[in-house]
Amino acid sequence: MELLRIARDQLTPYDSVVVWNAEAVDASSAGEGFTVALASGETVTTRQILLATGMVDELPETVGVRERWGTGVHHCPYCHGWELRDGHIGILAPGGEPFAELRVTLLRGWSSNLTLLTDGSASLDRPARQRLEALGARIDERRLRAYEDGPDGGYRVCFEDGEELPVAGLFVAPSQHQRSGLAETLGCGLDTAEPNPAPFVVIDSTSGETTVSGVYAAGDLTGPAQSVILAAAGGARAAYFMNHALAAADAQAALTAAGLPAGSDGD
Ligand SMILES: Cc1cc2nc3c(=O)[nH]c(=O)nc-3n(C[C@H](O)[C@H](O)[C@H](O)COP(=O)(O)OP(=O)(O)OC[C@H]3O[C@@H](n4cnc5c(N)ncnc54)[C@H](O)[C@@H]3O)c2cc1C
Repeated sequence: MELLRIARDQLTPYDSVVVWNAEAVDASSAGEGFTVALASGETVTTRQILLATGMVDELPETVGVRERWGTGVHHCPYCHGWELRDGHIGILAPGGEPFAELRVTLLRGWSSNLTLLTDGSASLDRPARQRLEALGARIDERRLRAYEDGPDGGYRVCFEDGEELPVAGLFVAPSQHQRSGLAETLGCGLDTAEPNPAPFVVIDSTSGETTVSGVYAAGDLTGPAQSVILAAAGGARAAYFMNHALAAADAQAALTAAGLPAGSDGD
């Protein structure tokens, strides 16, 4: 929120920037550009669109997990592994879902004290169990009752059998879906990107343009490598190419109006 506030503040000197604090509920191509309908009832016309609407994480239902999302519950070892280094890390993977081994693989460098919590019988075959154990993870298949704050800034996993397991933090591997349906509405191509099976917006890796001309995308909605700096970089990169395309179109129009052919330098 602080970064967002700073970014908004830094935009205020630019007269050409208008911030609409409203949900975009629909978008469609219109002539050379697009129209975007806002929940407020207004309609915005635009020559291009940059989609940066993010993804939704589908968290496990365990009581106490949602409330501690971002404090005692994490998903990204690159964002939060260091804070939990050498601590007892719980990995919540209900049923032992397919990301369990990947989580263990990524976290075992931060701590050798890993417990995989499957919240009931795991659908792990014998080779999968052997691999997890060889990688240093204990597998605990007891049903969970809740996840709570513990003493000294730590947390505790509470089992239905009444026992508790103190942990420094909990990692989950949530499934994701697109936060907004705008990309689909506009006809942008979606595809999965290993190792995350969520549908991501397909973009050109250089320009950030989607499969729909004039619609660009940046940030989490474009792929599984998700962080603030990558999202900002994706937005900056797309902005270069959006401006490039607009400037080229304007120059072409000016040359055409002057009765001159376009130059040969496309850069
Ligand atoms: C718990 C947690 C902890 C994290 N910790 C870190 C960390 O320590 N370091 C790090 O680098 N990254 C971290 N991340 C990842 C980081 O937050 C994301 O990678 C980053 O915020 C992605 O930015 P984004 O702009 O793509 O999407 P988002 O941040 O999700 O922003 C999308 C925005 O679009 C808006 N929006 C969506 N649909 C519409 C619509 N139809 N109309 C108008 N607005 C719309 C949303 O309201 C939202 O404001 C963390 C993520 C989570 C969930």
